[in-house]
Amino acid sequence: MTIYPPEPFRIKTVEAIRLISPQARQEALKQAGYNLFSLKAEDVFIDLLTDSGTGAMSQEQWAAIMRGDESYAGARSYYRLAEAMQKIFGFKHFIPTHQGRAAENILCALLMGAGKYVPSNMHFDTTDANIRARGGQPVNLVCEAASDPTNRDPFKGNMDLEKLRSFIQTTGVENIPFGMITITNNAGGGQPVSMANLKAVAAIYRQFGIPFFIDACRYAENAYFIKLREPGYQNKSTLEIANEIFALADGATMSAKKDAIVNIGGFLTMNDDGLYQRACNELILREGFPTYGGLAGRDLDALATGLWEGLDESYLAYRLGQTAYLGERLLEMGIPIVEPPGGHAIYIDAGRLLPHIPQGHFPGQALAVELYLEGGIRGVEIGSVMFAHPHPQTGEMVYPRLELVRLAIPRRVYTQSHLDYVAESTARIKERRQFLRGYKFTYAPELLRHFTARFEPL
Ligand SMILES: *Cc1c(COP(=O)(O)O)cnc(C)c1O
Repeated sequence: MTIYPPEPFRIKTVEAIRLISPQARQEALKQAGYNLFSLKAEDVFIDLLTDSGTGAMSQEQWAAIMRGDESYAGARSYYRLAEAMQKIFGFKHFIPTHQGRAAENILCALLMGAGKYVPSNMHFDTTDANIRARGGQPVNLVCEAASDPTNRDPFKGNMDLEKLRSFIQTTGVENIPFGMITITNNAGGGQPVSMANLKAVAAIYRQFGIPFFIDACRYAENAYFIKLREPGYQNKSTLEIANEIFALADGATMSAKKDAIVNIGGFLTMNDDGLYQRACNELILREGFPTYGGLAGRDLDALATGLWEGLDESYLAYRLGQTAYLGERLLEMGIPIVEPPGGHAIYIDAGRLLPHIPQGHFPGQALAVELYLEGGIRGVEIGSVMFAHPHPQTGEMVYPRLELVRLAIPRRVYTQSHLDYVAESTARIKERRQFLRGYKFTYAPELLRHFTARFEPL
């Protein structure tokens, strides 16, 4: 039997949550046009919409908030953050930003141009959009194993090295201002990238003289997966592994709302002096003075403290264990998921669970709505609602390969019994799955429609 580490903390302050009645849930859904983004948070019992900015801060982080230095320039908080940045990431320079996407925006403002390409294993949607907003093209070159939900390869976030090399050769170095990799691969199920793959990717970028930036949102979870799964790393600390990862790159972007366990924050970090100078100018224009970026002094302190807590190995053992626990319980109950469980979320394969609902009737949406009806649980559809689009030439609908519902797990927020409740609610849905029906749009904007669309049951 697998042992899942118990929560390495005890609870000192609590926030009440309540499960409203089935009739009230039905009514709330109708009001929301069956779009879970439109629900009021107070009507949700277990909220697994995202792990971004939804984590619980520790007593040390709250104490750090009180120590926050709100000086406009050169605040103590900035220097405390700079020390953590130096020890963990080791780049020469960094600028704080209010979120990950602000760091991406600045990087793209400085380096992107119309008609340029940025390869990665898979770009997250904000990175993708920031590249496109500057006239560029994001390119996803993740390994083949990533698209097979039953393939239990330990490093399904890996870049396909052959594809990367041939992409650079056919596109031309002059058309690739920088290259990236996302650790862990959020858009691909939170799957990790191996150190061997990171080294090989860095070597390819270096060979062609392409600056290499890491999207580091879940770097600590990735480092711990390397420790657990990659030969030669069992006796290294996650800090040593993180140092080894970032020594391979020229810089990184990060949303601190993930592995730095804060509710707001991010940064852009790099070695190049000239790029840093230009980044400061852009930062001053868009976010704020370079020693606070888009944040308050207290946010910088919470972030500095959270970076260390996010790397703590007893925390990471519990964190990855908790996600795996939910995944394995669902599998035991015969509910198909993307395997193996990723770091921050479980992705239920609604396409396989509800084979009688055609893709055009949104099986993922049907399951997401049913999870709310059954247990007041909020996940998010990652399937045809998000990605289906008419073919630009033929007009025929192009559907994504998988119809998924993502259950993202906020850090240090829910206990194992909350996850048992989620698994058992899902199992009850499975019992009556043949009665579930699909949905159709009553309103859908053209871009990013999943946020504001409205639906009707069929
Ligand atoms: C969340 C996330 C981002 C964007 O960060 P925000 O803080 O939401 O702007 C970028 N990349 C990845 C992989 C992410 O998970």
